[in-house]
Amino acid sequence: MSFARRCTLAVTVATATALAGTYQGAEAAPTAQPQPSPTYVYRVDGAAANANALLRAGFDVLEDRKGDDLFVMGKSVVGNRLQANGYRISVEQELPPVRWTNPLRAGQAPVLDAAVAEETYFGGYRTVNAQYAHMDLVANTHSDLAVVIDYGDSWRKTRGTGGYDLKAICITKRTPGDCALNPNAPKPRLFVLGQLHAREITTGDIAYRWIDHLVDNYGTDPQVTKLLDTTEVWVVPIANPDGVDIVQRGGNRPYLQRKNADTANGTSCGTTGGSSQVGVDLNRNTNTGWGIGSTPQACAETFRGPNSNSEVEVRALQGLWRTLYRDRRDTGPSTPAPADTTGMVISMHSYSNMVLFPWGYNSSVKSGNDTSLRAIARQMAALAGGWQYGQPGEILYNAGGSTDDWVYDDLGVAGFAWEIGGSAGGCAGFTPPYSCQTSVFWPKVKSMLTYAGTKTARPYSSP
Ligand SMILES: [Zn+2]
Repeated sequence: MSFARRCTLAVTVATATALAGTYQGAEAAPTAQPQPSPTYVYRVDGAAANANALLRAGFDVLEDRKGDDLFVMGKSVVGNRLQANGYRISVEQELPPVRWTNPLRAGQAPVLDAAVAEETYFGGYRTVNAQYAHMDLVANTHSDLAVVIDYGDSWRKTRGTGGYDLKAICITKRTPGDCALNPNAPKPRLFVLGQLHAREITTGDIAYRWIDHLVDNYGTDPQVTKLLDTTEVWVVPIANPDGVDIVQRGGNRPYLQRKNADTANGTSCGTTGGSSQVGVDLNRNTNTGWGIGSTPQACAETFRGPNSNSEVEVRALQGLWRTLYRDRRDTGPSTPAPADTTGMVISMHSYSNMVLFPWGYNSSVKSGNDTSLRAIARQMAALAGGWQYGQPGEILYNAGGSTDDWVYDDLGVAGFAWEIGGSAGGCAGFTPPYSCQTSVFWPKVKSMLTYAGTKTARPYSSP
């Protein structure tokens, strides 16, 4: 497991810094023989009251909160910086040092290659190529149920420096007009995306299982059969393939890259997922509340980008959503979408055991569909076994520029973000052991997704 509990007692930062002190500076220059230094999760006393200050300063603030405390991830230099800025901190967890392993296959996978579809890292997590080969195989094997859509290119691909296509799969019992690239398709659309934040590797695995669950059980499982007879299910297993390419290069110690691989704004940011990392935070980049709960610092994990909608991966998703969904909502934060609005978008993240809904940028503003969104979130949280639910600012902190806010803002589509997984125990954190996927996460999330399917036709009609 990648997240080691340091011990049951919080260790003082001074001690942790002393332990880490001999390994300073190794992160910036990974080689075949690195001198690795550990990464810490720091607990920051009372930071929830002013989370924005922490985020603006460029700290890697995790989507986790305990009481009034927030959590920041980083090397010991980050702990020193927190203290220098007057924060009271303790070490909550120590992540073992990253050790270099040979890169896995890079670039575009050949289609219909079953061997590629089984390519994994860290005990079973699928590489980008494996996910893409899997989608192509599913569409080829189940042409009555699935079709793959290329909806754009990743940042690296647009620059001719490797990279990937951006790929979605549409799954339904296909009849004329289904999966068409226009908003007039006969069935309502449930859209599920994973790994917008690359290091949240649980979400890509959930997507992979969800695809298989649907195509393998159509015609035998009544819930699946009904769902695919009445609804289009769109899945983007990896919304940020360039970022995942970085993550998987860590092999058995996945690199904790959160963002995409856009180097245009910070050419000296690190490329192994450290506290200084290349890229733009794709869930802080949309024009809905852009600038809130994010930072202008290019190497930081919550870098919002030079302007809103600056990133190709974000614009490609927005273009796809505008293609698939009618615009049912007028401007104004409290203007509701009408009761007969169809469709739902679920952006899967990890971790914190939470169901989030708009508005993320300001929890003192209620959306015009707050009652319906809150009721659905409550049920999703119950199916997960008692997660928290609410607007981000109610249970976490305000964060603007997210994709789930954007689909609701721009189109009126019901948008949710799930923070899958806990912060303590054997399946905690960004990189839980692969066995947790089967034993813990998939059974819960399968029931949440199935429920989401039943609400996709009329999310805003009375529950
Ligand atoms: Zn996330």
